[in-house]
Amino acid sequence: TDIKELLLSRIRDVADYPEPGVMFKDITPLLADPAAFTALTDALAEIAGRSRATKVVGLEARGFILGAPVAVRAGLGFVPVRKAGKLPGATLRQSYDLEYGSAEIEVHAEDLSAGDRVLVVDDVLATGGTAEASLTLIRRAGAQVAGVAVLMELGFLGGRARLEPALGGASLEAL
Ligand code: 5GP
Repeated sequence: TDIKELLLSRIRDVADYPEPGVMFKDITPLLADPAAFTALTDALAEIAGRSRATKVVGLEARGFILGAPVAVRAGLGFVPVRKAGKLPGATLRQSYDLEYGSAEIEVHAEDLSAGDRVLVVDDVLATGGTAEASLTLIRRAGAQVAGVAVLMELGFLGGRARLEPALGGASLEAL
């Protein structure tokens, strides 16, 4: 579609970042283009509405930039999932495996509750580890998962397959 082409044309490939052999998808040109940023926000907000979400969770850090306007546009609350140690209140913490080592993410426990249906928003689904851990956090907080929506999916990293069991019927949408 036209929107998809517009969005893809505003993503810059950066070779060997953050390390040799990695082709990094840089979304800053898209953010700097108001037509593209608005089109992306609208498309993700449409998914939020369609999935009957009650909250948008954004994954640090680019998921904050995309998720916050989506939440406002869809009329929903925004909840940040942060790297461990950054949230001041009582949190739930979840660790997950990386290629080398592990990482931890957190959410404020009181930001999600039993009646919530949560749409997770991020820019890029790579290995799926971060998104998978966020779904675990959402369920541990007592909320339901409405889905995961990302700007793009790096198919060759197998994120969709890793995430599939954790989705439990919720959808993974990449634009
Ligand atoms: P995963 O846990 O799926 O391996 O990694 C996903 C996280 O890393 C996301 O929060 C995403 O922002 C970031 N990430 C991984 N690769 C890229 C990339 O090529 N471009 C951007 N913009 N983010 C990436």
